[in-house]
Amino acid sequence: MDKPYLGQSCLEQGYLARYLAQQILPEIGKIGQDKLMASKVLVVGCGGLAASALTYLTAAGVGELTLIDDDVVELGNLNRQILFTEADVGQNKAESAKLRLSQQNQHVKINAITQKFNLANGLSLVNCHDLVLDCSDAYSSKLAINYCCSLTRKPWVYASVLGWDGQAALLTLHNRHAPCYKCWQESAPHGLRNCEANGVLGAAVSTVGSHQAGLALQYLLGYLHNANCLWVFDLWAMEQKKFQLSKRHNCKFHSDKLENLPFCSYEELRLWDEYILLDIRSGDEWDIGHLPQARHVSPGILMEVEKYYKTTQNLVIYCNQNTLSQLVVENLRNLGYRAFVLDGGYQAYAHLAVRKLD
Ligand SMILES: [Zn+2]
Repeated sequence: MDKPYLGQSCLEQGYLARYLAQQILPEIGKIGQDKLMASKVLVVGCGGLAASALTYLTAAGVGELTLIDDDVVELGNLNRQILFTEADVGQNKAESAKLRLSQQNQHVKINAITQKFNLANGLSLVNCHDLVLDCSDAYSSKLAINYCCSLTRKPWVYASVLGWDGQAALLTLHNRHAPCYKCWQESAPHGLRNCEANGVLGAAVSTVGSHQAGLALQYLLGYLHNANCLWVFDLWAMEQKKFQLSKRHNCKFHSDKLENLPFCSYEELRLWDEYILLDIRSGDEWDIGHLPQARHVSPGILMEVEKYYKTTQNLVIYCNQNTLSQLVVENLRNLGYRAFVLDGGYQAYAHLAVRKLD
């Protein structure tokens, strides 16, 4: 027979005991702990930076973590990717990290996606999380994160490590006055050197990953005093420096003059002489059904929009409802394009759609 109920359940008592040491910090408390538990963080890349960042976010009780990585564990990763053991070699990094972290804290929901983060899958993923952690080692991934976060106005924590050196920054892109990655990093850093070819110290990676976790937790708790600063670490000299970042006025990801977005209906479109109707939903959704005269594009293709469209063309964008299309149209308008949101999106006009015949 169970013991009589004496107040808090065992689960609640376990919850309190687990987080007591951080909850008694005046900057956290019960309210802060609840904020962490209600937070969703997307982690791009599950290598060395993620090993320490994820370990501390999981230990701190961040409610939901989504890990995305298409890479597999190699023996040469183990000097710095300390989430993995020799038994994980050959396994997908996101799946292996999920397995390890799930054993660490039952209160945290962990999702693993075995894909490479890119512009095609990135926008919708970023849009449904509160914060993104860049634990990738590729310049192209950082550009994709910056683009998706600029478009969806989500904050992200940038980081990179090479040799004994590392950098980290919390970029609060939900604030229109905040700098983005391209504001200070106009071209590829380090001449695209990488850890495999140029070497890296595990302790340097861990230091920067821990710093990322600290910046992430501060943001999730509502503290922004360390936002939009570049932290530079030199583990050889054992030095750490902080530089204030600012928005570059000609960075194409920003505009101070955001207009009210123009909407149009499908009926109105038929009265226009010329327009290009662009469907930015997923390929699967397009295959099931799409509007007549529409072209399917990945939202990511719009990053190189000048290759495909002229600023004199009327571009009408739709997604499922209006969420992503508004972000894309706002971005296109900042770039000087005549862009419009199809009001109500695909769902408003699904009855008119061209459908796949099964
Ligand atoms: Zn910028």
